[in-house]
Amino acid sequence: VTSAQRPDSAVDPTHDVNLASWVDSANGHPDFPIQNLPFGMFDPGVVADRTGEGTRGGIRIGDLILDLRALHDSGVLTGPAQVGSKAASVSLNGLFALGAGPRKDLREQVSRLLVDGSEHCDTVAAMLFPVRDVTVRLPAMIGDFTDFYAGINHATNVGQLFRPDHPLLPNYKWVPIGYHGRASSIHVSGESFARPMGQIKMPGTDAPVFQASRKLDLELELGIWIGGGNAPGHPILIADAASHIAGYCLLNDWSARDIQSWEYQPLGPFLSKSFHSTISAWVVTPEALAPYRAAMTRPAGDPELLSYLHDPVDQAVGGLDIELEVLLTTASMRAGSMTPQRLSLSSTRHMYWTAAQLVAHHTSGGCDLRPGDLLGSGTISGPTPDSCGSLLEITHDGRDTVLLRSGETRTFLEDGDEVVLRARAHRPGVAPIGFGECLARVLPHHVAHGSA
Ligand code: MN
Repeated sequence: VTSAQRPDSAVDPTHDVNLASWVDSANGHPDFPIQNLPFGMFDPGVVADRTGEGTRGGIRIGDLILDLRALHDSGVLTGPAQVGSKAASVSLNGLFALGAGPRKDLREQVSRLLVDGSEHCDTVAAMLFPVRDVTVRLPAMIGDFTDFYAGINHATNVGQLFRPDHPLLPNYKWVPIGYHGRASSIHVSGESFARPMGQIKMPGTDAPVFQASRKLDLELELGIWIGGGNAPGHPILIADAASHIAGYCLLNDWSARDIQSWEYQPLGPFLSKSFHSTISAWVVTPEALAPYRAAMTRPAGDPELLSYLHDPVDQAVGGLDIELEVLLTTASMRAGSMTPQRLSLSSTRHMYWTAAQLVAHHTSGGCDLRPGDLLGSGTISGPTPDSCGSLLEITHDGRDTVLLRSGETRTFLEDGDEVVLRARAHRPGVAPIGFGECLARVLPHHVAHGSA
């Protein structure tokens, strides 16, 4: 099996480590060099708006965004890229629905437009907006959100807290565990939110009380954007599943552990995970991540995959090798200009299931996925304490504390805390790329809850 057998692992001239852009801020940019070129949605605003039509699709390059509507209207693009830019002028759902062809062609043509020495440099320069001057929106209209549980170390660690003798449930290595989440409360990076209220049953009491969560947690996850969907009743086969993925983002699936532990039986999490979820703004494409594919190594003794989840090519290249990081600042750390403190350094290599397996499983019973649907990987924890993707694991459900460099301690998140997730793919001989920030700040709960 060679990696060339799957399009999303094919390396081409757009990945050349020696490519440089005439956009100066792109060269050496930790997240958005010319080898990345992720998609997003943005509104240039009234003052800066040069075409007067609000939110449109863009491609991030360094500290700037290339306006795909203006690029389409300029007529510089040809063929499938021109079709893709027209769809992206309105929404990324439209671009996602077109599948890999137009997306890949758009990447290739935009790479040639932005590379050093491009003959269209002057034309394209007029279509660039500084990110700091625009409003960045959610990348797509999210129809449905499904959250999986593919981080096996997270599943084991959480299981250990409640079932020390058999932490991993018997189904875990057979079936990708997931639940249907909530799309309306997914927000783009940068939006603060209020600590949730909810029913909480304190240990040693007979009845729950309705109060603000005291166990507010973060979850470090990979988001998976669905591209072309499937008709109801027509499953996406595992060998074809990767071609239905439009890209990836970071996802912080904020969780209120005290609300969760009371409400989750027997139907699973509900309000404890649907008050606010944060995603990073940029859709990093499968094409950009082609150099960072990884083999899946199923540990000896694990059950054989059922055939609908097994594809030799997916096992060879279906994994991803992306470093994931969780950073925290408190209000007093920011007041003292302290740098963010790392809570965790993990990796997508700790996923037990591939993204393609999640797609194949999700549709295996006939469920239809649609362009712009979002899947969450589940919390991705490494095997060590400094690689855990939630405070539940890091502090053992609040039994231990995290000491911050400000002298403060944390078990769970306090008001004013700001969490940033970051992702970085790097490998010798390949241009490193990142995802940008997945950031949000915790505000106090609404005091006058239930009234205006
Ligand atoms: Mn989650």
